[in-house]
Amino acid sequence: MFNKILIANRGEIACRIIRTAHDMGIQCVAIYSEADRNAMHVAMADKAYCIGPAPSTESYLKIDTIIETALKSGVQGIHPGYGFLAENADFSRACDEAGITFIGPPASAIEAMGSKAAAKDIMLDADVPMVQGYHGENQDPDFLKNFADKIGYPILLKPSAGGGGKGMRIVRSGKEFDSSLDSAKREAKASFGDEAMLIEKYLTRPRHVEIQVFADTHGNAIYLAERDCSVQRRHQKIIEEAPAPGLSDETRKSMGATAVKAAKAIGYVGAGTVEFLYDEDGSFYFMEMNTRLQVEHPVTEFITGLDLVEWQLLVASGMPLPLKQEEVTVNGAAIEVRIYAEDPDNEFLPSTGKLVYLRTPEENKHVRVDTGVRENDEVSVYYDPMIAKLIVWDENRDLAIQRMDSALQNYRISGLKTNVSFLSSVINSEPFGRGDVETGFIERHYDSLFKDIPTDEDAPALTALYILLKKSKTGAMEALATCDPYSPWNFFSAWRLNDNPVYIIKLLNDGREITISADLKGKYYQLKFEGKDIRASGHLSGDTLIASLDNRKFDVAIAEHLNQITVFNKRLRSEFHSVEEQYADLAHDQDDGGLTAPMNGTIVAVLTEAGAKVKKGDGLIVLEAMKMEHKIMAPDDGTVTDVFFKVGDLVKEGTELIAFKADGDQESA
Ligand code: ADP
Repeated sequence: MFNKILIANRGEIACRIIRTAHDMGIQCVAIYSEADRNAMHVAMADKAYCIGPAPSTESYLKIDTIIETALKSGVQGIHPGYGFLAENADFSRACDEAGITFIGPPASAIEAMGSKAAAKDIMLDADVPMVQGYHGENQDPDFLKNFADKIGYPILLKPSAGGGGKGMRIVRSGKEFDSSLDSAKREAKASFGDEAMLIEKYLTRPRHVEIQVFADTHGNAIYLAERDCSVQRRHQKIIEEAPAPGLSDETRKSMGATAVKAAKAIGYVGAGTVEFLYDEDGSFYFMEMNTRLQVEHPVTEFITGLDLVEWQLLVASGMPLPLKQEEVTVNGAAIEVRIYAEDPDNEFLPSTGKLVYLRTPEENKHVRVDTGVRENDEVSVYYDPMIAKLIVWDENRDLAIQRMDSALQNYRISGLKTNVSFLSSVINSEPFGRGDVETGFIERHYDSLFKDIPTDEDAPALTALYILLKKSKTGAMEALATCDPYSPWNFFSAWRLNDNPVYIIKLLNDGREITISADLKGKYYQLKFEGKDIRASGHLSGDTLIASLDNRKFDVAIAEHLNQITVFNKRLRSEFHSVEEQYADLAHDQDDGGLTAPMNGTIVAVLTEAGAKVKKGDGLIVLEAMKMEHKIMAPDDGTVTDVFFKVGDLVKEGTELIAFKADGDQESA
């Protein structure tokens, strides 16, 4: 067995590997880019080396530098994780040449599966079932079109070198063929440097079911059940589960045996995954084989009770597989969701930024969190925007869904956009509950997943109450936490000797402006806004607000960063910008002031100039952040007194962009 290995990766998978290696008494050497100097995987490793600048082409993909580091640090093996160099045959070969064990399959097996077209040839020879299509060398557009016409539409164009769903195009009729082929080729060329395409009959309602295989150097190969990864967006998985709901034992066995046959056909060693399309009629077709540990391996670990990284290390050090096929048992049901920094409302585009607030559910025998980030870490543009994998297990699928629902409620992030609420909608949806999953799940149920999401009607009042309670605490803890109006330290009585203790709070929520007036009445506040009149009281304990609104009880988590407040109320998550707070009788003294950047971004348009007279709602300046534009508008009729930035300038959240004076205001000194 190894006593020291290098992990040629970062993020959650590097941390995941280190955990098992440490349990086995193996020392770990980490590598990191300049952007990852303070990353979690670096902190967890026994030793770590910086191998270059942030872009992965200059760091995590640098074969020479990584091999050099491995030799220098005296490791016996290199674990590539997934992504980066995990399926790079040159890297596997470079390890061999340096006398270091590549913890993965032999270079020849990676090569055999590296091209989807070549892989299909091998699989055909091994009698593995394949969806109807063409995967030959002839790339003449007319030939390809004729082929598509012959098998009938819809068809799918797939780059032979493909991965990550890139360059794939569904073609629904002959008319679309030429333009789809052109654009698929362009994307494939840009992503993989290779534009060769294959054609497949497009199945209209398939499921993605994959088999985990394991092989050793002694000729043994087995499978460790299956995973259903049908819930995808942009042809990429976001929810995976094991076992696959509703799969018959017979299909499971037959798929498993086919997968083992596929692995044996290429002399496979280590952990691998054979992916199948599973059609409604129960037939299944080989899609591709991934020659590495998969992102979703934890669901298999939960139902089999095995540690797949441990198995990888055992096999790579020359030991036989710990179990025979008939000794593998499956127990209960496991579900994994991938928590991404991305915006489900904007075509799931990746988002970046700082995890200013991060709370994760408690880990126990039912809940596992695989992550590589901590609070205050940055999700950068350089790497995959996955924040974590949340995995749950229970006796059966229904119970596992319930566990996931609760775990997601306790996964609280603010500072950047994430898919947590969206995942919660999917998990709690009726078709998911029934196990009616398929690869078009998200498109098919788009309306119920996106449009029917309720807004949290209680969140504005909870936010106002939070602001009031926090304010009072800054006066004097004890007296104010109880909102004692007679205490000399109470901020209302202490600051305001006159008679009007009404306080005004102005909140922005997704373009909606909410003005709340709060009137302190003994031990509670009377909150008025949008025709509502609510009696609110409560107290703060850390980041938890225990509240009562008209005698309804709440226990919510609240995160605050600059002037942004996030309320986590069970499944609902609401975000507010607190833009103004003041006493009612001062309200008119403070109307002027700056307009600030709501987030870090770049100025892309300046629509006004110093001295310009503007009307309420006029656009003044446009900020682009995370591929989205935000227009800053005039809060009132008035005059722009200064513009502090020009097009192209980078601005930080909270920076004043424009000085503005509302009409009717006294000129201040
Ligand atoms: P990549 O390697 O780019 O991830 P895959 O071949 O693994 O591409 O396919 C990704 C996803 O695309 C699958 O999980 C499935 O949802 C869908 N898909 C692939 N082939 C077909 C097909 N012939 N018919 C319908 N859907 C398909």
